[in-house]
Order: sequence, then structure tokens, then C-alpha cells
Amino acid sequence: MKYALIFTLFAILLLALFTCPEKSVIATDHYRVVRIVDGDTFIANIDGKDVRIRLIGVDTPESVHPNKEVEHFGIEASDFLKKLLKDERVFFKYDQNNSATNHKDRYERMLAYVYRGSDSLFVNAEILKQGYGHAYTSYPFTFLEDFLKLERDARNQKRGLWADAETPVTTDQQHLVWFNPGNKKYHREGCRYLKDHALSMPIDEALQKGFDACKVCKP
Ligand SMILES: [Zn+2]
Repeated sequence: MKYALIFTLFAILLLALFTCPEKSVIATDHYRVVRIVDGDTFIANIDGKDVRIRLIGVDTPESVHPNKEVEHFGIEASDFLKKLLKDERVFFKYDQNNSATNHKDRYERMLAYVYRGSDSLFVNAEILKQGYGHAYTSYPFTFLEDFLKLERDARNQKRGLWADAETPVTTDQQHLVWFNPGNKKYHREGCRYLKDHALSMPIDEALQKGFDACKVCKP
């Protein structure tokens, strides 16, 4: 009788494990970091081959810091990634939004969520959290909303490259505009071109990211 109970519990546990509804992304093996290319790209050795990895949802463009030289910003951002990944191994997770292109971008770089092998630190998020890049919203990805929030928090708390930026205004005081993930047009709230999953951000941020105003709702 006792064994029957244990068996039943075990069966239920197994069933729960295999039918778990959570969208699980399978992590890869751990790979050696060969070299940092810039703040959002590096080279990893995958099965003996050097592969260029582009971090999903993070951008470290020259325009991110209005008061600093282009070159200076680039160096700081890539130094930060070096510091995070020096002598480390990493593992990857992929985003199903990129499965159609086999997780490659048009430059043949592999698009990945990168995790540090030693402590599973989520590298993409860490860059935004510490203020060494901003959320790259041109293409949709699972963590888009989370990444925008991390960037906003870093700016408000003047972390990293935002340290000597102008005093930020809190989000509620700012004029918000709306956009569809993957599209660089911003709209007034309620515009008919906005989809159900549209997101908002302060207008300053939209302009800084090079978004265009919608010609219909004229935000
Ligand atoms: Zn519009």
C-alpha cells in the first residue's frame, strides 16, 4: 500500500515535469570566450570554431551618451564586457523570435542570451542594469519590456555611462509615446496603428533612438 502511494506520487511528479507549461528555453553547453569585439559582440569557441556572438536586445551605439566622444563610449562599453567575461566560459539561450533565421543576424553573427558559466549571470541584462548600453528595440524579443525597464532604471540612477548625463526626469513626469515592438515609429496612446502588445517610453527616449513620429496620430 505504502509503495503504491510512493509510486503514485512519483508518477505525478514526472508528469508535472514533462507537461510544465513554462516556455522553457534549452541552455547550451559551456563555451570558452575567445575575445571581446565591442560592447555587445564577442567571439566564443564553439566545438573548435570561433563564432561571433551578438547579444540579443542590447545595443552599445556611439549615440548613447550625448556628452562623450564616440570612441570613448565604445571603449568603456567593451571594457565592461571584457570585465564581465574575462577568462570565463559562457552558455547560451536562444529566442524563438530568431528561429526563422536559425538565430543568425544578417552579418552571420549568432543571436543569443548569454549567461556566465561560473555563476549564471545574465550578461545581456547586466549590461543594461549597470548602464553600459541600451535596449535594442528594432526587433521583437522575449525580454524587450524587461530590458527597457532596466535601461530606464540605470539612467534614473545614473549608473555607468549615464553617470554624468543630465538630471533625468522620472517617467511619470515625461510625455509618453507608444510603439509596436520591432517598429521604429512612435504613436499617441490609442492610435489605430498600435497593436495589442504595444509598449510605451518617454518621448525623449524615442527621439534619441531615432524613432519617427506617426503621420496619422501626430504624437
Ligand atoms: Zn499613430
